[in-house]
Amino acid sequence: MNKTKIVATVGPMSSTKEMVKKMILAGTDVFRINLSHSSYKDAEKVCAHIRAVNRELNTNTGILIDTKGPEVRTGTINGEVFIEIDDTVTLTSKECFGEFGNIQISYKDLYKDVNIGDRVLIHDGLIELKVINIIDEDIKCITVRGGQLKSHKGINIPDSQLSIDFLYKEHKEDIEFASRINADFVALSFVRNANDVLDVNDMLISLKNEHLQIIAKIESRSAIEDIDNIIKVSDGIMVARGDLGIEISLESIPSVQKKLIKQSYLKGKVCIVATEMLTSMESTSRPTRAEVSDVANAVIDGADAVMLSGESAVGHYPIEAIETMNRIIDSTENNMDYDEILIKHTSHENKDVTTVISHSVVDAANMLNAKAIIATTISGYTARKISSHRPCCPIIATTPRKETATSLSLHWGVLPVVVKKYTTTDEIMKNAIDIVNEKFVLEKGDKIIITGGFPMKQNRYTNFLKIEEIE
Ligand code: PEP
Repeated sequence: MNKTKIVATVGPMSSTKEMVKKMILAGTDVFRINLSHSSYKDAEKVCAHIRAVNRELNTNTGILIDTKGPEVRTGTINGEVFIEIDDTVTLTSKECFGEFGNIQISYKDLYKDVNIGDRVLIHDGLIELKVINIIDEDIKCITVRGGQLKSHKGINIPDSQLSIDFLYKEHKEDIEFASRINADFVALSFVRNANDVLDVNDMLISLKNEHLQIIAKIESRSAIEDIDNIIKVSDGIMVARGDLGIEISLESIPSVQKKLIKQSYLKGKVCIVATEMLTSMESTSRPTRAEVSDVANAVIDGADAVMLSGESAVGHYPIEAIETMNRIIDSTENNMDYDEILIKHTSHENKDVTTVISHSVVDAANMLNAKAIIATTISGYTARKISSHRPCCPIIATTPRKETATSLSLHWGVLPVVVKKYTTTDEIMKNAIDIVNEKFVLEKGDKIIITGGFPMKQNRYTNFLKIEEIE
């Protein structure tokens, strides 16, 4: 079983129930629905498919809703529209479908925020414009780098700060939607600082939603400046390299990515590495060597999850892309030194009881080359804690709550399994061996580590460690 998780974005090439099933069987752990490209109605339909397939296959694939955030996008483009270097184009909030050099933009007040000379980057910087004039509410630009214009692609203005509110009306609606459909994760686009995350947290408290985990997308310079606080108040982060590669130089992305992964796992938070991981597989069935290395390096650096965007949403080889990612993860994880990884963790951690037990569980699992760790959990806390220490073997999180199982779908090394509620430790031990036996072939002498909190309570509480040897 692979430990690094796969997040696959659903889109026109992958939103039927049949495709959802194929994607789960190919190795998808979490489905991402990007509200920049999907209506609430379509997103609900996909969620229904995911839940139906989960029931059918007895899987716990999670649902991540990616919000539009305070972003600017192109409107609908009709047919194939190319803009060439030195073409003059107009950015306007009026509907225009990319015709006659006019490009519709989703933020009508953009003309108030830009200045003559500002760069305008479209579709992750594939197209670059320069503002040459502002006439009424229209922005006149000259094309510096041309390319094909596509519908609903991101527009970045790296030279100016947009005055759009983080929690503007549509963004609030996206978060309410994620809460209403009981998604497991909400990825917040264009988080600027920890206060943005705290505002969403307040929203979730008022919506009485204790389940939805907040993933802050790191895609701006201001987010990097406040990264310590953002990680502290979020459940995890996404290294959103598409927009980030416009806000900071492309060459600085690898070192920033490494730092973000390290900072999040040292704080026990989830980190997803996203965008262009296997991009060539949108149109070919094999990845490039560089893409294989990119995925492998994210795994080596300790990312919890790697993400597919266009590859699974609009590409021609969505299943092949997931299978390819799976093979890269498998091969890379087989060559990792888990003892060294654990040593790196030791010097940084707190010394509370749960942390000490989690550390001891992982240490014991590595020393004994255990087949699996069984973490009995109500809220998921024990499994998350153990995951953050990166053991050599899978962590089977047994929980009586389906919600907890899907909420662990993104966490490194965790295989969630829904079980009935245990009332005695004897029951826990007996069921643990049966569950591992179901998932892996156990042989005489194999060891499994069992951990959890007993009596089982709702709160964060881990107090036992038991080692079982198969007779
Ligand atoms: C990104 O910018 O890399 C990203 C993941 O966000 P989006 O796909 O919404 O642009």
